[in-house]
Formats: sequence, C-alpha cells, structure tokens
Amino acid sequence: MVTDEFIKSIQSESVIIKRDEPMYLHTSFRIGGNAECFCEVKSIDALKNVTESCKSFEIPYFVIGLGSNLLVSDKGISGVVIKLGGDFDEIELTDENTLRCGAGVSLAGVCIYAKNNSLGGIEFAWGIPGSVGGAVYMNAGAYGGEIKDVVVSSRYLDSNGNIRELSAEKHEFSYRHSFYTDRDVIILDVTLKLFPKNKNEIFYLMQDTMERRKAKQPLNRPSAGSVFKRPEGYYAAALIEQCGLKGLSVGDAQVSEKHSGFIVNNGRASSGDVLELIERVKGAVREKTGVELQCEIKYIE
Ligand SMILES: Cc1cc2nc3c(=O)[nH]c(=O)nc-3n(C[C@H](O)[C@H](O)[C@H](O)COP(=O)(O)OP(=O)(O)OC[C@H]3O[C@@H](n4cnc5c(N)ncnc54)[C@H](O)[C@@H]3O)c2cc1C
Repeated sequence: MVTDEFIKSIQSESVIIKRDEPMYLHTSFRIGGNAECFCEVKSIDALKNVTESCKSFEIPYFVIGLGSNLLVSDKGISGVVIKLGGDFDEIELTDENTLRCGAGVSLAGVCIYAKNNSLGGIEFAWGIPGSVGGAVYMNAGAYGGEIKDVVVSSRYLDSNGNIRELSAEKHEFSYRHSFYTDRDVIILDVTLKLFPKNKNEIFYLMQDTMERRKAKQPLNRPSAGSVFKRPEGYYAAALIEQCGLKGLSVGDAQVSEKHSGFIVNNGRASSGDVLELIERVKGAVREKTGVELQCEIKYIE
C-alpha cells in the first residue's frame, strides 16, 4: 500500500506525484480506474530512487508509455504507475544519421524531428500513437516497417537499479516482441540509425501513411489499435469479419465497423465490456475457423 512515508521517500523536483489518478486520462482507450499513485519521473536518478523505494516498501510498480496498447481495469491499479517525462522526452542528433531518443518521446515527435533533419527510415511509424519505449518494448510496426529496422542500441534500468546497454542484435526482435517484453526492466533511451533523404519525399510518405490509416482505421473513436496479433497465415480482422462479428457490441465496447481488428469505446465502455467482447470474438473465431486469436493489447489490473 502507498503510504505517506513512501510518498516522502520519492519526493523530489524531478517527480510529479499524483495520488488516485484516473488512468482513463492516460490511455488511448479512455478506460481505466485510478492508479493508487501516479508518478511522472523526469530523470534517471529520480527513476532509480522511485524504483528502489517501491522495492523497499514492497510496492508494485508498472511503467507506461503513452498508454496506446493498454486496457486498464476499472478497478484501477494498486501500487505505482510510472510515466517517463523530462529528460526522457529529449531527442539528440549524435551524428549526422543517428538519433538518441528518450524512451518517453512520442513516435510522432521522432518522425517530425527526423523529417526536419532530412532523415528517412522511420516514416512507417507516423500515426502509431505510442512512445519510443513502448515501440521498442513490443517492436511496433506498420506498412512494411518495424522499429527493429532502425534500432542500433538501447539502454535500460535493470531490476537491481543498474544501467545496461543492449546492442541491436541482442534485442531478440520478432513480430510484436522484443527482449523487453514481459521483463522487469525500464527502457531509458533508444538510439536509431536513419539515412539521408529528401524532406519532401519524407513528407509525402508520411502523408500517404496517414491517409491509409484514416481510410482503414476508426481514428475518431478511442481504441488501443489492433486488439489481436496477426495469427500465422491469416489476418485477425479478416477472420473476425468472416465470422460475422463486425459491429458486435458489449455495452459501449464494439468491434469496429470500419476495421474489425479494432475494438472501439463508443462512450462509456468498461474494461469488463472490452474483456467480454474479446472473449466472445475469440470464442466465435475458434469455433468457426479453428484459429486461436492472441491479444496484442496488454490488460493491467
Ligand atoms: C489508433 C491506433 C493505431 C495503432 N497502430 C499501430 C500500428 O500500426 N502498429 C503497432 O505496432 N501498434 C499500433 N498501435 C498500438 C500502440 O500504439 C503501439 O503498441 C505502441 O508501441 C505502444 O506504445 P505506448 O508508448 O503507448 O506503450 P503503452 O501502451 O503505454 O505500454 C505498452 C507496453 O510497453 C511497456 N513500456 C512502455 N514504455 C516502456 C519503457 N520505457 N520501459 C519498459 N516498458 C515500457 C509497458 O509497460 C506496456 O507493457 C496503435 C494504437 C492505436 C490506438
């Protein structure tokens, strides 16, 4: 349990602490009860202190990025939710083609920075509403590109409070998976290798990517993107549609009419509505096609 004594131990200029912070404010689904304690941490030292304190007070903690791949329980999250800000929101050009990005930087911020510096290679990520940390955690990708294509190294805080560096080949990248997936470590920053490219070409590619998203995805409704991973040899959305599940609702949660791989929140969907809808979709797809869908989004309680 978060106590006043614990709060005292983490107080510093580099931590913004909020108690009972509604998590729906921090997720693209706009769903989620209160985090017992929500900390925006702005420096590595402050991050070390917060995680060490959590350990000594035996309080669980969970790091989020921009909350665009999460379903948070309506019951909220006990313990501490950590969001990286401040120093973790910086981008630095370390040589003419190389960017070092704090883990809290948005992919949109990286894309704009790269375009402004005439650097190509990250355009595929334009429109993915996550952070650099979140993207590396799950090897985010779209339209033929994946973050693995541009990562040269990353640094993380391990569970003993040590800073470690990981070179590209040690990231164990595969489809929506990396070394970081389900590991008790915090990504601090990521170094990306891009290449010189004409600014207008970058701009048109980004624009094209966004047009394709707008045409296919329900961007006018809160969601967490594709709910299911792509099963080997199939497309989740096609299977869902084939099973007649497009538009299926539980409460305010609905299988999108525009893209069957998305579940949208039509207003006041609860986490329970979304979970029940996921189970119904999985059950129907299993029964009719024999394919077992797996969730890409992460449920936190
Ligand atoms: C409209 C829409 C479209 C989308 N399109 C795509 C797409 O085309 N391709 C795609 O791959 N995804 C897509 N997504 C999903 C999502 O944007 C990505 O998965 C993104 O990479 C998640 O990043 P995040 O910062 O929001 O992470 P979060 O959702 O906040 O967290 C996801 C996981 O990453 C972990 N994590 C985050 N930061 C760190 C860190 N610093 N250290 C350790 N762990 C960390 C969290 O603990 C959690 O387990 C889409 C989502 C939406 C809403």
